[in-house]
Order: sequence, then C-alpha cells, then structure tokens
Amino acid sequence: MSTPSPQSAETRFSNTFLRLKKKLERGVGEAIADFNMIEDGDTVMVCVSGGKDSYSLLSILLALRERAPVDFRIVAMNLDQKQPGFPAEVLPAYFESIGVEYRIVTEDTYSIVKDKIPEGKTTCSLCSRLRRGIIYRVAREIGATKIALGHHRDDMLETLFLNMFFGGKIKAMPPKLVSDDGQHVVIRPLAYCTENDIARFARAMDFPIIPCNLCGSQENAQRKQIKAMLAGWARDYPGRIESLATALQNVVPSHLADQRLFDFQGLDRHTVVAEGDTAFDPPELPRSGGDVIRITPLD
Ligand code: SF4
Repeated sequence: MSTPSPQSAETRFSNTFLRLKKKLERGVGEAIADFNMIEDGDTVMVCVSGGKDSYSLLSILLALRERAPVDFRIVAMNLDQKQPGFPAEVLPAYFESIGVEYRIVTEDTYSIVKDKIPEGKTTCSLCSRLRRGIIYRVAREIGATKIALGHHRDDMLETLFLNMFFGGKIKAMPPKLVSDDGQHVVIRPLAYCTENDIARFARAMDFPIIPCNLCGSQENAQRKQIKAMLAGWARDYPGRIESLATALQNVVPSHLADQRLFDFQGLDRHTVVAEGDTAFDPPELPRSGGDVIRITPLD
C-alpha cells in the first residue's frame, strides 16, 4: 500500500475536502434512506475492485456506520481474477490498515475468458457473468444480506443511454435490485454521487488504486461514445446532466407509449391521468432561476 504523500494528507484536511466528504456522505445517506438499502442487522458485502469508486464506497459506508441509527456489519470483498500483473498484496494490506473485516477470493476467470473468447473480441460480458456468479456465491458463504457495488450516478446515466441508443429500451441501472434467483439484494449507495466528486475524494484520500486495464480489454466502444456525449453536455449545457438524473426519478408512464405500464386500451374520457391533458400544449420547463420557459413545437 502506498503511504499518503504529504500533499494529499494536507488536502485531506482542507475545508474543501471536508465539504466534499460531507456532500458524498449526505448523498449516500439519502440514497440508503430513499431506497431502504440498509436495515438493522444487515451484513453488507462491499465489493472492492481496487478502483476509485469502490474504495470511496467502502470508506463512506464505514464513516456512515459510525453514526447510523441502525447496526450493520460491513465485509469488504475483493475478487482476484488472476489478471496478469494484479498486485494481490495491495487490497489485503489496505483492509488491514483500516481495520475492516474482509474476504479475498481468488478465482482464475482470466484464463477462462482468454480461452473462450477469440483474440480481439470484447471479453467483458463473459468476465462480468463469471464474476457475478462468484460474488453471489461468496455473499451466501459469508451470510451477506446486501451486496454493495460502487456504481454512481454517471454510470447509471451512461447505462440509460446505452440501452436507449443500442438496446431500444428506456432502462438504466437501478439503485437497488434483486438477483434473478431471488437470493440476493444488490445495492448501489453511490447512486446520487457524481463521478467527478468521487474522483476528487479518491485522489485526496490517496487510495492505493489498482489500474482497471490489467486484463488488456478495451473499454466498450459504445460506452466510450456515450461517456464523451455526456461529458460534452456537462461542459456545454450546465444543469443538463442533473436534469437527466432527476428524470430517472420522474417517470410519467401515461406520457410514454409502453402499454404494459399504462392502460391505453382502457383509457377513456373518465380516466384521470396524473400529468393531465398536454395534447395541444408545448411542454413547460422551469428555468434555472425558477420561472417557466415554453418550448415552441416544431411544425
Ligand atoms: S475490463 Fe477486463 S476485468 Fe473488467 S470486465 Fe472487462 S474483461 Fe473483465
């Protein structure tokens, strides 16, 4: 494990850092409360890959547990997938240094993936499937009632656009879900936190980051494209990303066209629709200052 540099140690006690820490803790606390992610008596297995997001998640959950009104156990878990060059000593040393209960699991999924996927093809989908199976097995072994993952708000938005652009679905990454076999509840306590804040936090905390490209796989080209699109919007249109994130919590099924979500067949003049009649009106959008702007429909 690397020793914090004097510069980062100093940064960690600056007022801006303390404000950032508070903001992240507030975001995580709100997500936990809004989605009832953690309950009294839970054992939360926090999956730590060695990247900035999962280190931050573990650190914030440990801090919140100190003052939580409920009692829960945290077990940090790392899966060593035997990727070439994986520094196997880094995470155990880190977990020891912060005194968290932990479990390291070693499974050579790297060889399986290399064996099954032809050279040059993306290996991530098989790799993630294998990883998921192992994570669920370990969660059972340690009696975990919740599995916490380090995905954040921007991961959720990227997934939303990936599904819309390439999958024909309005579907993102939920803050809480149950596994297909009904055995596990997976939570994403960073759902309200931005990648930028997490990156700043991780830098100041000087976590011993393990690079995520050890397997040699290229990041999915479609995800890269979406990331670039969102980054461009964040730069050119302040507030747009925040509005998108809010939209994930403001779905109006009567104003989409999914017949499984809204009974259009049964809709008649007696039906009361939540958002009312907007058939002939342009949508009204609040300005950042609070007053309303009207979008004129195109002919
Ligand atoms: S980047 Fe490598 S380790 Fe990560 S999911 Fe893809 S194949 Fe697996």
